[in-house]
Amino acid sequence: MSVRVRFAPSPTGALHIGGLRTALYNYLFAKKHGGTFILRIEDTDQGRFVPGAEDYILNALQWAGISPDEGPKNGGTFGPYRQSDRKELYFDYAQQLIDAGKAYYAFDTPEELDEMRERLKEARMANPQYNAISRNQMKNSLTLSEEEVAQRLNSGEPYVIRFKMPKHDDVRFKDIIRDWIVVSTTTLDDKVLMKSDGMPTYHLANIVDDHLMKITHVIRGEEWLPSAPLHILLYDAFGWKAPEFAHLPLLLKPDGNGKLSKRAADQLGFPIFPLNWNDPESGELSQGFKESGYLPDAFINFLAMLGWNPGTEQEIFSLEELIHTFSLDRINKSGAKFDIEKAKWFNQQYLKNRSSVGLAGTLKAEYDLRTDDATVVSIVDAMKERITFLSEVVTHGDFFFNAPRDFDETTVKKKWNEEVAAKLNSFSLELKDLDAISPEDAKQLLETVLAKDGTGLGKVMPGLRLALTGAAGGPDLMQIIAILGPKVSAERIEFAINTLK
Ligand code: GLU
Repeated sequence: MSVRVRFAPSPTGALHIGGLRTALYNYLFAKKHGGTFILRIEDTDQGRFVPGAEDYILNALQWAGISPDEGPKNGGTFGPYRQSDRKELYFDYAQQLIDAGKAYYAFDTPEELDEMRERLKEARMANPQYNAISRNQMKNSLTLSEEEVAQRLNSGEPYVIRFKMPKHDDVRFKDIIRDWIVVSTTTLDDKVLMKSDGMPTYHLANIVDDHLMKITHVIRGEEWLPSAPLHILLYDAFGWKAPEFAHLPLLLKPDGNGKLSKRAADQLGFPIFPLNWNDPESGELSQGFKESGYLPDAFINFLAMLGWNPGTEQEIFSLEELIHTFSLDRINKSGAKFDIEKAKWFNQQYLKNRSSVGLAGTLKAEYDLRTDDATVVSIVDAMKERITFLSEVVTHGDFFFNAPRDFDETTVKKKWNEEVAAKLNSFSLELKDLDAISPEDAKQLLETVLAKDGTGLGKVMPGLRLALTGAAGGPDLMQIIAILGPKVSAERIEFAINTLK
């Protein structure tokens, strides 16, 4: 049987990176086994629907390079892939469970439900819920006569359909990551399957769709583990074979203390969403990883390692390599601490390995650079090993585009003096008549100038850097001279000599 997995987000806001990791693991697992990766939009909770969220999810997947094989945009043979477009089909399944005595109608009003909870609290029930015991005191098709139920249904009284949780039973299932799980049904409640607005709940729609879409493996976040016993019981109740389950460990805050939340990320100053998100309700704009300068392949590599390990020291994996190496049994059981420094490290590694021509093209498209293409390529070449984000070519490398007007004060104090100025002046006089110079020739020229009275290179280098860049550190100086050109370099040296007198 070919592998079919789904990523099933609810469009209740921007996709959190935890969600993107779930999508990624589903994708990797599908591709590894020559299977199908499906996107299903679970939008049955109309109250939580957020406009723009579905498009956001699609765009985020596309940016990450893990677009679905079947989904609301591209279709497929098991569609529709948006639950609100499937709403007609769920009722019959709920009805099927009622007919089999595995679900029932409940007519309790919100006030009656509150009273029930109060009553149970007073009787010192730790976890007051609508369950195999309390349902006997409630208004449902298990306690009311057949005629009364029929009459209430005919009169259009609002009702829900609840699952009839078996009283004393153990639900057992094997999770691929957590191994055997056994839960007693005495701890579970009679979950609502159909709501009074005629929409299915997540539980019913999710199970029916996973069955109809022939899902073989459910790979999802650990927060869904408490729902899994009910899901297993629903498969049993329908007489369907349940898919295999793999519940992924949580993403934790950097200190390992609790779940990684948007609040925690905001406080610590890093993104939590893959792309910019403009919250339509609060109007708040959250910056995404993309807009913060993360390359999609670097980000995906980083995300893959958050909770999974290849069992070797290798850290850099292309998407193809990830597909090849990925396996569910190397997913960790414990939560994964989120480390933004590691994300930056991956970005650095990927930038370093990108072609300078390609990066220069991206830079030109994003910034209004009035420098010719070949020079931008050389600048990227000089900078790319030293930066975390491509934008730093322009910020940290501002001196390539604009002559420095300020000079690092500490270096001025420590390294600038008349002797240095005199040497640099001789160097600039040599430079200014040249049209171009290579880094090697620049070095040789400087050495020749200095050799006249035996001054060491080390003595003038900090001052030269100061004159050319304004700063104390940066890429190779001779490369800088070659990129700026001998004339501009000479002008800068003259300017520094005049300014720092
Ligand atoms: N709609 C659920 C969510 O928002 C899906 C959970 C599942 O994969 O079963 O995450």
